[in-house]
Amino acid sequence: MTIVGHLINGEMSTEAKRTQDVFNPSTGAVSKQVALASVETVEEAIAAAEKAFPEWRNTPPAKRAQVMYRFKQLLEDNAAKICELIGKEHGKIVHDAGGELKRGIENVEYACGAPELLKGEHSRNVGPSIDSWSEFQPLGVVAGITPFNFPAMVPLWMFPMAIVCGNTFVLKPSERDPSSTLFIAQLLQEAGLPNGVLNVVNGDKEAVDVLLSDDRVKAVSFVGSTPIAEYIYSTATANGKRCQALGGAKNHAIVMPDADMDNAVNQLVGAAFGSSGERCMALSVAVAVGEEAANALVSKMKAAMTSLKVGAFSNEKNDFGPVITRQHQEKVNGYIDSAEADGAVIVVDGRNPEVVGYEGGFFVGATLIDGVTANMTSYQEEIFGPVLQVVRVDSMEVAMKLINDHEYGNGTCIFTRDGEAARYFSDNIQVGMVGINVPLPVPVSYHSFGGWKRSLFGDLHAYGPDAVRFYTKRKTITQRWPSSGVREGVSFSFPS
Ligand code: NAD
Repeated sequence: MTIVGHLINGEMSTEAKRTQDVFNPSTGAVSKQVALASVETVEEAIAAAEKAFPEWRNTPPAKRAQVMYRFKQLLEDNAAKICELIGKEHGKIVHDAGGELKRGIENVEYACGAPELLKGEHSRNVGPSIDSWSEFQPLGVVAGITPFNFPAMVPLWMFPMAIVCGNTFVLKPSERDPSSTLFIAQLLQEAGLPNGVLNVVNGDKEAVDVLLSDDRVKAVSFVGSTPIAEYIYSTATANGKRCQALGGAKNHAIVMPDADMDNAVNQLVGAAFGSSGERCMALSVAVAVGEEAANALVSKMKAAMTSLKVGAFSNEKNDFGPVITRQHQEKVNGYIDSAEADGAVIVVDGRNPEVVGYEGGFFVGATLIDGVTANMTSYQEEIFGPVLQVVRVDSMEVAMKLINDHEYGNGTCIFTRDGEAARYFSDNIQVGMVGINVPLPVPVSYHSFGGWKRSLFGDLHAYGPDAVRFYTKRKTITQRWPSSGVREGVSFSFPS
């Protein structure tokens, strides 16, 4: 059986004292094995990155960017293959994989602007004949640890920017769907990246713990679930590393009585069930303000959901595919069971859908649950499946309080025609990414992505302008050439 291995110093290897099954979630069959890197293998990758750093650091930013231009072209040329690799191991439908890849490529495009982004700041004559400037120097070896749900896009949030900033990189992708990530890394190598600048080690906690403790790793970018994000952040920072750790979510949409209900329903269907709800920005809770809005929302959602198709990744006519593993399918079904046991109403039940020809697949159908309240486990925890829960409230203030009180603060949205209400909402809601009649307010590549509260540990968001800050150290230089300026005697106080 094929073993998905590592890319270290430009060479592929399948070192594998331990391996793990990789599934095709559409069929439920094991398709490959992934090598789980040992401590020695991760150390080898770090050593390769450290060795490549001095030369890469001094490579002109324009030359570094030229590699990214070629990489972008190779990603586009190989899009069909990448989408198939994603579909086979993640389960998302090919058109959805294409959307993920496109968003990833936009981050490569932004990285191509490195020479502009790294120009720094300059002030002439901060004192008599004294100039001062700040420059942004790379950190050294940096690491990225990524989740299963965006095997192409999330790694592309990280390493293109880290690398154009002059760092070298060790990536530890999700062991559940590793093939597309590894293939993308090979494309960057093909684009002309020197050996050792990007290394990929597949693995699990054993590999991650090396990246968190090795002194040669200067910074860690993480995206995944909140308990692991918290562990990564506390361990990496305790070991003196810079860290940004993006975690889980529970994204609410407020549906106001004046909303364009047909539009809100269309938007909610895509945002709740697209990618089987396995998106950190998925809208998983609709908070309907007023009985009339709630009744209209539930009946229109129910009608819209009758035509949804769940099925294998390879059929473009399907709306969404399976969830990632059998265990995750059971977990999602368990949340639906618990909501029912807690007294909520299962309006559309997606447990155990029939998918003809794919009986072994890990499918959960689109599910709508009404009458959910804040004390229910299914409300408090992230489900990460195609499940939309409806909470009924009687005012916008109560709806906003629900959102502000929730432990997560990744994304949110309001559906309304009232500009004043929308402005009040965006101004006061305790969430990092806000949509106004936009269900998935994922920032474009030239802004930055990140949640608030327990959806992000650290200060800087992912990609965009924050990534330049995260992947560089500011150095400020103040310069005077006494021969061309004023010569001063001894001074014991700051010049004023
Ligand atoms: P996960 O936390 O299980 O895994 C993420 C990464 O951490 C993987 O590479 C995994 O190998 C590693 N890991 C897992 N357990 C570990 C441990 N005990 N010690 C060290 N490393 C460990 O997340 P997942 O299931 O792959 O992804 C889904 C989660 O990611 C969801 O919670 C989702 O909301 C979140 N997510 C967040 C964002 C965001 O931007 N905020 C984006 C995508 C996904």
